[in-house]
Amino acid sequence: MIAVEQQDTQTTRAFTLPSDRIRAFIDALMSATDHFIAPTRVMHEDLVFAEVESADEVELEYENSLISPACFILPQREAVFTYAMAEGKPPEVRAAADVESHIIFGVRPCDVAAIEYLDRFFMGGEFADDVYARRREAKTIVAMACVEPQNDACWCTCSNAGPVAASGYDLQLTLMDDVYIVESGSERGDRLIDVAHELLADADPELVEERQRRVEEAFETFERRGNIGQAMRWISGDQTPEELWEELGAKCFSCGSCSLVCPVCSCFDTHEYVEDGVGARIRCWDSCHFPGYSLEASGFNPRENEAERMFHYAHHKLCADTFQKYGRPGCVGCGRCVQVCSAQIDLPMIAQTIRECGWACKDCKSCAQADVAAAPAGAEGTGED
Ligand code: SF4
Ligand code: SF4
Repeated sequence: MIAVEQQDTQTTRAFTLPSDRIRAFIDALMSATDHFIAPTRVMHEDLVFAEVESADEVELEYENSLISPACFILPQREAVFTYAMAEGKPPEVRAAADVESHIIFGVRPCDVAAIEYLDRFFMGGEFADDVYARRREAKTIVAMACVEPQNDACWCTCSNAGPVAASGYDLQLTLMDDVYIVESGSERGDRLIDVAHELLADADPELVEERQRRVEEAFETFERRGNIGQAMRWISGDQTPEELWEELGAKCFSCGSCSLVCPVCSCFDTHEYVEDGVGARIRCWDSCHFPGYSLEASGFNPRENEAERMFHYAHHKLCADTFQKYGRPGCVGCGRCVQVCSAQIDLPMIAQTIRECGWACKDCKSCAQADVAAAPAGAEGTGED
């Protein structure tokens, strides 16, 4: 049994907000930003994150949205830059439009972790993606902790991304019966505390301790489990049988839905649009499940069949290299792929199947070496055996 490494969710600067003052608190936050994004109900009671004009539009009891609020930082489609072309002149390139300030309210801890992952992907290397960086800089994240799973697809506890955010937020709210604990995680958060200070009081340390106790209890209520640490070792050490990927590939429709709803997936494509002498380079989401994703200009496709693409997808999500580069697996346990895949293939299932793939084990014992070579420091405890 590998122990689940529980997050350090203790807080140093915490306040309380009576739950019946939450809409006044939202009003105060709205006064401090150009745009306020929040969970809200639309047609057929579907839950989406969208811009709202009034606190009454904000839904406070909500399941995970199908599309993560991370889409306000990495939109499905955006102009990277535009250009004007005139005959006989070089193109006049214009940077992407300025981004106004946004507060994204009610972000669940799994999505907070996904945004941290995207930050490392787009800004953590030698070169930062300036289009992403400008959007990110304009966003303030107000997280809403979970004190129980939002649905039976949630498995954030296995990827150390919930049920409470340990970092990555500016403010975090946790509902404790008739009061919210409000904690600040950044200077921006401190400024919002100042904006709403009339509604807040210092939190009693006993209440904060009680929150910690409830978080520990909440861990036990997440029923979906998958041993990410063990799957990481097997897939990084090349210890998964080809038959597994052929079997999963044969079921997959290559629809790409799992990666298009995944808040961590960062693959994109770019297109040029030119009309009447004005052009734009458009970046849009892509999926490594699409047959054309890896098609090269020569016509050669290194991942021609779905079995190869399925392995690539799972390997990128779970391999030790991803963990080392981005500080976490390429999955935050939001459960969205569980909800959308018509073939009932999802990452918790893939991780669990890798763990159980002893049916194809050749008893070569090289997995013992792979443990040493592939398991990165800190990967222990990202799942339960
Ligand atoms: S959602 Fe399911 S069927 Fe569609 S690409 Fe992903 S694994 Fe394949
Ligand atoms: S792989 Fe699935 S469960 Fe994991 S973050 Fe992506 S959509 Fe959520």
